[in-house]
Amino acid sequence: MTATLKEALKAHFGFDGFRSKLQEDVVKSVVRRDKDVFVCMPTGAGKSLCYQLPALLTEGITLVISPLIALIQDQVDRLRSLNIPACSINSKLPAAERRLILADLESSRPKLKLLYITPEMVASPSFQPCLAGLCSRGLLSYLAVDEAHCVSQWGHDFRPDYLKLGELRSKLPGVPCLALTATAPKNVQEDIVQSLRLQQPRSFVTPVFRSNLHYDVIFRDLLPNPFGCGIVYCRTRENCETVAHQLTKLGVSAKPYHAGLKAGDRTRLRLTGWRANVRFVAHWNLAKSLASYYQESGRAGRDGLPSSCRTYYSAKIKSKSAFSFNRKSIADRCRHATISKFFGDQPPNCAELYDEDEGGSSDNEAKQRKKEFSNL
Ligand code: ADP
Ligand code: MG
Repeated sequence: MTATLKEALKAHFGFDGFRSKLQEDVVKSVVRRDKDVFVCMPTGAGKSLCYQLPALLTEGITLVISPLIALIQDQVDRLRSLNIPACSINSKLPAAERRLILADLESSRPKLKLLYITPEMVASPSFQPCLAGLCSRGLLSYLAVDEAHCVSQWGHDFRPDYLKLGELRSKLPGVPCLALTATAPKNVQEDIVQSLRLQQPRSFVTPVFRSNLHYDVIFRDLLPNPFGCGIVYCRTRENCETVAHQLTKLGVSAKPYHAGLKAGDRTRLRLTGWRANVRFVAHWNLAKSLASYYQESGRAGRDGLPSSCRTYYSAKIKSKSAFSFNRKSIADRCRHATISKFFGDQPPNCAELYDEDEGGSSDNEAKQRKKEFSNL
């Protein structure tokens, strides 16, 4: 089976192999169609492929729920550029195009393989009969719920419309469901399983601990001394503009990126390639929550090389912060442990990470890593 999957991966997407063992395991599990599947992998890990490839290998149509029209458009464009029949029904779609799509879905052999919709569309009276028709004719292969944390009030992005999806599921008997998210602490995971009525799902979860990330918190007075390519998170657009401007004045090439920019400028910035090898993520302002912090800082070091996650703080900010991330203020000393525990995951061995005296001579790798960090 692995050979066939790899061939299909190459043929449809042009990829030489799976991104990770986890991605491969998810795809293998999904194509079996015998269980619901829960996937928690970080942003950029390639979650979309976990349903896109199975969608192409199974007869029928995969229904994908995604929270934002912009995200959907991005995915649909990408799939179409690969000649994969995908489209989206959403509130912005002209009526004529919508009619064409619905006609295809009502035909005996629809051409479409992936249909993306927003959760608010799910309940729309015009779409319901179409969905019921597909289901009764056995033409729905999967229900994929992307950004599944939106279903949880504990999550950082709660979307009430996601709560309708449980009901949707009960109308689609026999259609396996795949729930995907990048960040889900235990309570959010439980909410997802419950709300989407996942039946004893197989779970595939990337371990929280990232051994190549070094977290630190430093005083704002210090001038930034960036190495390699990175991202600086700021709370407001104004902050973002100011910091980018100041960095540029210091001779560091920097550009602002925020929702206030023109779409063209944003795309150009996204395409410049800084996403691939992010060596550092700095928080000029504190993140909204520990969950957001983990997700944002986690964009560093996706290639596995040592990378730095730095939070800048001042006394003023510290007192206002929603969560405490200062080494002195947490009993564990180790931020990796704080994060792992927050997500309900096994914490790493902090002694090996931080303490030369306790590390012993056995763990050369940990010592080497520590040395690499101190050179950053
Ligand atoms: P996520 O949803 O987990 O944030 P995406 O599905 O958007 O991630 O994928 C991130 C990028 O990784 C995309 O550009 C995608 O084409 C690429 N990608 C996914 N799987 C593979 C693979 N097996 N080999 C190479 N690139 C991949
Ligand atoms: Mg995604």
